[in-house]
Amino acid sequence: MRITAAVLETAGGPFVLRDVDLEEPRADEVLVRVVSTGICGTDLEFAGFFPTPAVLGHEGAGIVERVGSRVTSVSPGDHVAMSFTSCGACPACLTGSPAYCRDFDALNFGGHRADGSSALSLDGAPVNAHFLGQSSFATHVVAPERAVVRVGASLDLTHVGPFGCGLQTGAGGVFNVLRPGPGSSIAVFGAGAVGVAAIIAASLSGCSVVAAVDVNPAKLEAARSYGATHTVDSSAADPAAALREIAPHGFEFTVDTTGRQEVLRTAVEALAPLGRCGVIGVGPSQDISLDWRSVLNGRTVTGIIAGSSLPQVFLPRLLDLYAAGRFPVERMMTTYPFERIGDAIADLRAGTTAKAVLTF
Ligand SMILES: [Zn+2]
Ligand SMILES: [Zn+2]
Repeated sequence: MRITAAVLETAGGPFVLRDVDLEEPRADEVLVRVVSTGICGTDLEFAGFFPTPAVLGHEGAGIVERVGSRVTSVSPGDHVAMSFTSCGACPACLTGSPAYCRDFDALNFGGHRADGSSALSLDGAPVNAHFLGQSSFATHVVAPERAVVRVGASLDLTHVGPFGCGLQTGAGGVFNVLRPGPGSSIAVFGAGAVGVAAIIAASLSGCSVVAAVDVNPAKLEAARSYGATHTVDSSAADPAAALREIAPHGFEFTVDTTGRQEVLRTAVEALAPLGRCGVIGVGPSQDISLDWRSVLNGRTVTGIIAGSSLPQVFLPRLLDLYAAGRFPVERMMTTYPFERIGDAIADLRAGTTAKAVLTF
């Protein structure tokens, strides 16, 4: 079928709306008409070097139009959120941890299906797609069933897209991995969309101290409205000293959403003995250095992909909280019609919106 996609024609170049051809779903795939898609930092990062022509986008939500012959979990007409994909057969997948699938990178960032094919083509030539199981910067997506999660039919899908990546990542890191108990303390580094999701999750978990650290005063002010009890402007003050004032014996939990080497070091050093630091942010591959003593006293540094979540279990739970008004992330989103993808990216880069969402 003929669809419209935002095609990255040259690495680092703009996304251009083009008519492209989309294959019918295979036996284990689903055709989804996209209703909304968030734009995530990973899209912008990969747009700088991904082989072109390419279609990115990995926070899509929409309505199922057709399903392959072996698909059982969704039917045409179902509302769905889309998330990352996984092989379904490796030890991590079989034990309920598909975010640590051994084929995660190949399946989600390879630009094609496992057999090397692409469902998308432009003027007869294959397009690099299947990005995180989706490539949702398009009116329609062919996604593997494993990447699709049925959500409530009454849910307005406008703000659902970002749940499949950024919100799941931030909330899942807290709910699924760190699991702070009532009355505990946590510091969240970076108050963008992922950080806000972590802050709300910490607040819902009953943390009595939720410190947000960022360089942007507007984001810090917003963080308070989502449950941060303290804020640290790390552009104006030494964050380590400011955090010591808030928690003199250290935080039980810290979360880094920034992917920056120096921030991660601060996040580890801000921990109390036996404290746990969740590494959620992804930066350029680089060494990190930690002082011996900063990890000797029982501290743990844990890498967390996609909130360690099993999307089919976790996303419906998160969306129930959202529907009940207890995970009010729509407040940080700005919606743009699909054709204004360039404006949305410019606003994201300028920091004037925390989360840009394209609507169709
Ligand atoms: Zn993402
Ligand atoms: Zn696997």
